Amino acid sequence: MKSEIKKIGIPRAISYYNNYPFYYGFFSSLGLEVVLSDKTTTKTINEGAKYVVSDTCLPIKVYTGHVMNLLHKGCEAIFIPSIQSTGYKINNCSKIRGLPEIIRNVINKPFIMVEPTLDKTENISFKDFCIQSANSVGIFDKDKIKQAISDGWRVYNMFLEMTQSGVSYSEALDNAIKGKLVKKTIDIVKPLSVAIMAHGYNLFDDRISLNLIKKLEKMDVKVYTSLNVSRQDAISAIDSIGEIQYWANELELTGTAAHYLTNEKVDGIIALSAFGCGPDSLMVEEISYHCKEAGMPLIHLTIDEHTGEAGFITRLEAFVDMLLRKKRSILTKQSDKTEEDANIENTVEIKEERILTGSVK
Ligand code: SF4
Repeated sequence: MKSEIKKIGIPRAISYYNNYPFYYGFFSSLGLEVVLSDKTTTKTINEGAKYVVSDTCLPIKVYTGHVMNLLHKGCEAIFIPSIQSTGYKINNCSKIRGLPEIIRNVINKPFIMVEPTLDKTENISFKDFCIQSANSVGIFDKDKIKQAISDGWRVYNMFLEMTQSGVSYSEALDNAIKGKLVKKTIDIVKPLSVAIMAHGYNLFDDRISLNLIKKLEKMDVKVYTSLNVSRQDAISAIDSIGEIQYWANELELTGTAAHYLTNEKVDGIIALSAFGCGPDSLMVEEISYHCKEAGMPLIHLTIDEHTGEAGFITRLEAFVDMLLRKKRSILTKQSDKTEEDANIENTVEIKEERILTGSVK
């Protein structure tokens, strides 16, 4: 079959937030023009919500809205992968697993769906996933596909290197796509720091997260996310709190929270999840238990399409305020203790002096 697909549409939702640098490098190397849907707006959400049943979680409504956006842009081929499992028995939720089926059933419009499957539990590897993707756009040349996989990893690894050095998500993404590597060398110290446990598709979509990261930074809070934690550190952290990795996005949630919980680098943890999400409710419950044991403050913010910004900010400000008061009280106690220690040291010195001069009775 001759390649006829010259453009591929990628919805700016779900796996885009974890894998887009790879997708971009891979499809560009295959010679395709990559077309992204526009950034999420309320219109995207409303459009997606029209097609799916009302109790579907927000990220799936958003995803559907992005597919519609690509169709409005005239995309004839859209990449909608079915990511079943990312490791042996490390699964995605049923909605992400069945994404092609959901879209096929709710959007009744003619377009080519590029729908590779990744299922490591069933021995369908990431290489197989890439081969399926290339074959679906009419490319069968093994060398070309091999080169595209390596180009995909090159862009992805640059992105990862930048985020792990502290470069923000959007800056790292922009630079990786341009083939530019920048690193953050100065780490600004702020009065408070928090770690956010959340799916990338909730946290880095500014409309879904209601700009959570920017709001915290405006409050002078340093923010750590899963992008600052290496895969190995997240896996070790899950292990260190005695939990197991079951969900595909567990490293972004349990792994990130456990990492910052055990290294005591943050003053609090924020869990951000979509209303009605089963996997997230289990992971947040697990982490809440460990936070309670360790005395680490945690707030759970849930979001849906009706979440109002005012209430969201109020809860956030109250949490930050509480962290600040807690930190102040710890610092005050520590400084009292230091003064006390200094007094004790002085007394010991005086006593030692008296012993040396023979004046102690
Ligand atoms: S993991 Fe939760 S938020 Fe994500 S798609 Fe599944 S149900 Fe929705």
